[in-house]
Amino acid sequence: MGYIERVYDSVVQKNGEQKEFLQAVKEVLDSLRPVIEKNPVYEQHAILERLVEPDRQIIFRVPWTDDSGKVQVNRAMRVQFNNAVGPYKGGMRLHPSVNLGIIKFLGFEQIFKNSLTGLPIGGAKGGSDFDPHGKSDAEVMRFCQSLMNEMYKYVGPDVDVPAGDIGVGAREIGYFFGQYKKLTDNYHGVFTGKGLTYGGSLTRTEATGFGLIYFVSEMIGEKGRNFDGATVVISGSGNVATFACQKAQELGAKVVAMSDSNGYVYDKEGIKLDVVKEIKIGRRGRIKEYVDQVPSAEYHEGCSGIWTIPCDIALPCATQNEIDEESAKILVKNGVFAVGEGANMPTTIEGTKVFQENGVLFAPGKASNAGGVSVSALEMSQNSLRLSWTFEEVDERLHNIMVNIYKNCRDAAEKYGYKDNFVVGANIAGFEKVATAMIAQGLY
Ligand code: NDP
Repeated sequence: MGYIERVYDSVVQKNGEQKEFLQAVKEVLDSLRPVIEKNPVYEQHAILERLVEPDRQIIFRVPWTDDSGKVQVNRAMRVQFNNAVGPYKGGMRLHPSVNLGIIKFLGFEQIFKNSLTGLPIGGAKGGSDFDPHGKSDAEVMRFCQSLMNEMYKYVGPDVDVPAGDIGVGAREIGYFFGQYKKLTDNYHGVFTGKGLTYGGSLTRTEATGFGLIYFVSEMIGEKGRNFDGATVVISGSGNVATFACQKAQELGAKVVAMSDSNGYVYDKEGIKLDVVKEIKIGRRGRIKEYVDQVPSAEYHEGCSGIWTIPCDIALPCATQNEIDEESAKILVKNGVFAVGEGANMPTTIEGTKVFQENGVLFAPGKASNAGGVSVSALEMSQNSLRLSWTFEEVDERLHNIMVNIYKNCRDAAEKYGYKDNFVVGANIAGFEKVATAMIAQGLY
């Protein structure tokens, strides 16, 4: 059995029930084969064995009282995966589906993503099975404060800097940060995604969605295509989806569908983003309310149907494993030209294979959605400098970072004989920097 197979086998033995983590590890290890086989030094230093085992995993109880006075208990966790190239960095997710396997898959991916940005940040992720939907602001605040009563011990501006993810936006970051400050008396840049009045960065809200479009523009641009006039389908209607839609529309695309976890809307005239923003950001409503205001649009229950809508470019921006083999085949049959992952691992391994075998340009999330964490790192820089850059300044830096990430993925893929395979390119480019730093720092 080869090195990669032995490592994967041992991950399966130890983490058999963590299916999303196993999926992420398999995808990364398989695509690292060319670089691992060429460089025996990685096996000598047990780099893969060390990468697949987090530095530490912290799991804790979060008790809080609901508005009726009843005590509720949730489970929360922070997985600090690897800090070879900088302090741990990665979002917090609040969703009922959260478990250790999901947080580990996200933290593992984050190592390579953060390395790809070229900025000094390591990989981590955290979250809780708390569901913010339907909770009052006061309930969300009490939950966030209780979570921070434990988590403040493990984070810090040079230790671990969390951010948002599914279910964690400006409101939750504000409550986390406020409680951290109360407990430590420190006004540290310990979270990113903060509000603009207390240390946040302009463009952070837009960064992941805008960055996705910048990456995809580069990728399709090299094939002589662009967003102008393209038909685009975007899943989700949260932070990433909203700003991907905004930038795609600015570049002349016609976005015809968006969704949430209940269903999707199809508007053949083109999604009216102001209506979506008013529903989802303005009043935390449901995407089906779109048809109340735009009666010519259609609403369909269920998530996967969105991929049956013919499009040139598909941008999955909701959650993991939304595009399986079957959905990928339908997209290909309907003539999709490019797929850009805004979410983390939204395409299954089988779905990815379908795109690659059919010549569809495929941008993996760890590269194409790295805009969010990139601007988070720029927020950390601004906090350290006690400065605030303008929207245009941050947007320009974001654009340059995404172009560089694209070029690094493209060049790494070509160097190892996998032209246009951006999955291989992203994993190798992200891996090489981390592995080199780990070897240089010795065993720790
Ligand atoms: P939000 O919470 O703002 O939005 C998530 C969207 O996805 C909502 O429309 C939500 O619908 C939908 N959704 C959530 N869970 C599911 C599910 N199980 N099935 C179907 N739809 C679902 O999160 P973000 O936009 O921040 O994150 C979206 C994705 O992007 C995630 O994979 C995240 O890890 C990734 N990402 C986010 C970054 C960021 O900066 N925010 C950075 C990099 C990656 P509903 O309203 O019904 O819950």
